[in-house]
Amino acid sequence: MNSAEIIAYTYRADIYCPKCIIKELAKRNPISPAGFDMPVEDVLNQVAGANGIDRGDEATYDSDDFPKVVFAVYLEPSEVCGNCGNNLSGYDMLVIREGASQRTADEGAAVFISDSADLLKVELDDATKNLIDFTGWLDNPDAEEALFDLVTEWEGRLADAGFVAVWDDGYIIYGRKP
Ligand SMILES: [Zn+2]
Repeated sequence: MNSAEIIAYTYRADIYCPKCIIKELAKRNPISPAGFDMPVEDVLNQVAGANGIDRGDEATYDSDDFPKVVFAVYLEPSEVCGNCGNNLSGYDMLVIREGASQRTADEGAAVFISDSADLLKVELDDATKNLIDFTGWLDNPDAEEALFDLVTEWEGRLADAGFVAVWDDGYIIYGRKP
């Protein structure tokens, strides 16, 4: 996906997919039935023109009054449409791991490395396997540091392959299904 691609719109304090933004707009503006089959940007331009909104300069109006575009690059992987609930970023949740209630930070790091390798279909080398099978990290600061270095490395590998890891207590890895 091109990061400059318009994939959503903010309007009245929510965010919508292109299909739903027209429905939202139609609640307050007359839109002909044909409008729902037209390219979304064309409809927006028409309605903007009828309302004296200058879409060319979004700073001149408020998103409470008229939708503003959201580019892919500004969307969180988990962002969903306020109307249909579809994921807007095009990412799917591929791995969800609970955090502190299920495992320690060290255990979480070990599981993360193993999940990442699975997603990228990479066989872990023996040194890494030994490290993530090791359970005495807390008593061994060197091992713990090596473990967290590996987490950083695997985050980079995931990013290179188009995945996004979001840590929030546990973590979620997003990616696009083939
Ligand atoms: Zn929608």
